[in-house]
Amino acid sequence: MVGSTEHSETKPGLIELSVIVPVFNEAENLRPLLSRLVPILETCSKSHEIVFVDDGSHDETLDVLHEMRDVEPIIAIVSLSRNFGKEIAIAAGLDHARGDACVIIDADLQHPPELIGTFVEYWRQGYKNVYGQRIDRTVDSPMRRLLTRRFYKLFARFGETQLPEGAGDFRLLDAQAVRALRQMREHARFSKGLYAWIGFKSIGVPFHVEERAFGVSKFSYRKLTRFALDGLMSFSTLPLQVWIYLGTLISLMALGTAVYFVAETLIMGVRVPGYASLIVSITFFAGVQLLSLGILGEYIGRIFTEVKKRPLYLVQEVSGFRSPAADSVPKKESP
Ligand code: UDP
Ligand code: MG
Repeated sequence: MVGSTEHSETKPGLIELSVIVPVFNEAENLRPLLSRLVPILETCSKSHEIVFVDDGSHDETLDVLHEMRDVEPIIAIVSLSRNFGKEIAIAAGLDHARGDACVIIDADLQHPPELIGTFVEYWRQGYKNVYGQRIDRTVDSPMRRLLTRRFYKLFARFGETQLPEGAGDFRLLDAQAVRALRQMREHARFSKGLYAWIGFKSIGVPFHVEERAFGVSKFSYRKLTRFALDGLMSFSTLPLQVWIYLGTLISLMALGTAVYFVAETLIMGVRVPGYASLIVSITFFAGVQLLSLGILGEYIGRIFTEVKKRPLYLVQEVSGFRSPAADSVPKKESP
């Protein structure tokens, strides 16, 4: 099944709230998450589903999901054919979710499910993009905190979209916002930028990030660097344009130096020294050229990925999307 065309929508009102959980090797976290999530959903919505997107896990995640689904009819599973990364797993979840509103939440309990109640209240007041706003980053390592801060400063300066501070994937999106996001089939996905780009009536709800319940973060520094580059390059063309200004400046400097050398030769005659300045300027300009070529390469690479028009993801298995009428049938009793 090809993900990019697979949109399962029900008539409005049939399922009120969909919770989308991207999961990659989170076997131990699933049951604790479910036991905290279900009571909240029961208090704040009439009908709901939890869409787990298995992002090519290679631990027991998928088996645990199947076991959970067998006893909990509100669970649906979308299993991707391999690991596509969190951003794309979220896109797959949004494509399959059927709710009038969708909540995106991490599986590791760093996002308190209890906040969903507040999200839903704001949604009922007419907000279409209700985002959790982390007020501290103490659970991240100091190095990651530093790099994250630098990235957001850079993005605020050069990005063409303003990101609200501390906003991440933990949020509620109205069906209208979800439809907008479904239209964005870009591969280099920087969801935080996309959520801000679509606009709609938005509001932030502050929260403390909890420690990861089990396991370790699935984001290595390499993955995070790639993600940061995707973010900057999808939302800014400044790195491409800056070379016009730098090139002009360097050419003017070169012209000035040429004038100086002509004047010097006319006044003092020909002088041999100058190797040092020659070597320095050659290496400097070679460096500048390679750097600008590298930046061109980064953009061209992304253009190449997009023009291939491959599907965003491939689905290996979809299960548990029961009709909302079936959801009202009492749960299967365990023997
Ligand atoms: N995740 C995913 N695919 C990946 C990496 C992560 O679906 O390739 C999921 C992961 O299972 C978790 C969420 O994305 O539910 C956040 O991941 P993690 O906790 O590792 O990120 P961090 O909290 O360190 O930013
Ligand atoms: Mg986490």
